Amino acid sequence: MSQTRCLILGGGPAGYTAAIYASRAGLAPVLYEGMEPGGQLTTTTVVENYPGFSSGVDANTLVGEMRAQAASFGADIRRGTAVKAELGVRPFRISIDDGTVVESEVLIIATGATARYLGLPSEQKFRGLGVSACATCDGFFYRKKRVAVVGGGDSACEEASYLSGLCSKVYMIVRRDVLRASKAMQQKVMSRENIEILWNCNTQEVLGDASGVTGVRLLRKDGEVFDIEVDGFFLGIGHHPNTEIFEGQLKLDENGYIVTVPGTSLTSVEGVFAAGDVQDPRYRQAITAAASGCKAALDVEKYLAQ
Ligand code: NDP
Repeated sequence: MSQTRCLILGGGPAGYTAAIYASRAGLAPVLYEGMEPGGQLTTTTVVENYPGFSSGVDANTLVGEMRAQAASFGADIRRGTAVKAELGVRPFRISIDDGTVVESEVLIIATGATARYLGLPSEQKFRGLGVSACATCDGFFYRKKRVAVVGGGDSACEEASYLSGLCSKVYMIVRRDVLRASKAMQQKVMSRENIEILWNCNTQEVLGDASGVTGVRLLRKDGEVFDIEVDGFFLGIGHHPNTEIFEGQLKLDENGYIVTVPGTSLTSVEGVFAAGDVQDPRYRQAITAAASGCKAALDVEKYLAQ
C-alpha cells in the first residue's frame, strides 16, 4: 500500500507536465509511467513543431527532458501500469501491475492513446514478424525493402514519408479516393517518388510464411482482388484511448475518450482530472498534451486548496 495526495497516471508530455507543475506546487506527486514510458512521442523521431526548438528536437530527448525536469522538482516517478481503478471510494484506490495499491486524494489521468489495428487474424499472426504500428521503431528492419502503410491520415503519411527514406518502395493503402491528412502532409507523400498510393483499397489479408510477411491481399472498390509483395506492413489508422479501467466509473464519449468540462481538466468525478490524448480526440499534439497537463495540475492545486 502506498499513499499520496496526487497520483498521476501516464508518462507522456501530459503526465510529465502535470508532475512538473504539481511538484513545484508542493503536492509531492507520484507518477506511474505505464507500459510505454515517454508515451507516443517516443514512436516518432524528430519533433519539428514543438515551440522552442528552431532546428527540431529528438523526440526521446524532448520527453526525457520533461521527465528529468519533473524529477528535479521532486516528483516520484515510478515504473508500472495501473490495472484497476476504484473511483467510488475516498481516497481513490489504484492498483498497479506490480501488486502495489496506491491511495490518493486526487487523480490525474494522462494514460494517452494506443495504435489501432485492423483486426484481421493474419495481422495478429504476423505481429512482430513484419506487422508493426510504429514505423520509426521498426522501419530500420526494412531498409531497401518494400513495405505497405495502411491509412490516409497524418499518421499514415508521416509513417510513409519516414519509410520512404529507408525503403525501396512504399505503398500506401487508402480506403477512399482522398487522404484525410493535412495538405502539407499530402504534398510530402505526393512528392516522394518511391511512394505509391493504392486508392479505394481495403486489406483482405496479410500474406506470409515462416519468415514473416511476404505480401498483402487487397480488395479494390471495383471488386478486383490483387496481391502486392511487401516485407513489412505498417498500421497508420489512428488510435484508441487507454481508458478501459475507468469504464463505468467516468463519463466517456462514444469512442472511449474521457469527457472533460470544456476548457478544463475536470471529469465527471470530483477529484479526478484528465489530460493529454486520453481526453483529446481532436488535436493530439505534444504541445496540446503538455498544455493540458499544466491545466490539470493547476485544477488539482485549486481543488485541494478548497
Ligand atoms: P486519423 O483518424 O486522422 O486518420 C486515420 C486514417 O486511417 C484515415 O485515413 C482513415 O480512413 C484510415 N482508417 C481508419 N480505419 C481504417 C480501416 N479499418 N481500414 C483502412 N483505413 C482506415 O488518425 P491519425 O492517427 O492519422 O491522426 C490523428 C490526429 O493526430 C489527427 O488530428 C492528426 O492531424 C494528428 N496528427 C498530427 C501529426 C502532426 O502534426 N505531425 C502527426 C500525426 C497525427 P478515412 O479517412 O477513410 O476515415
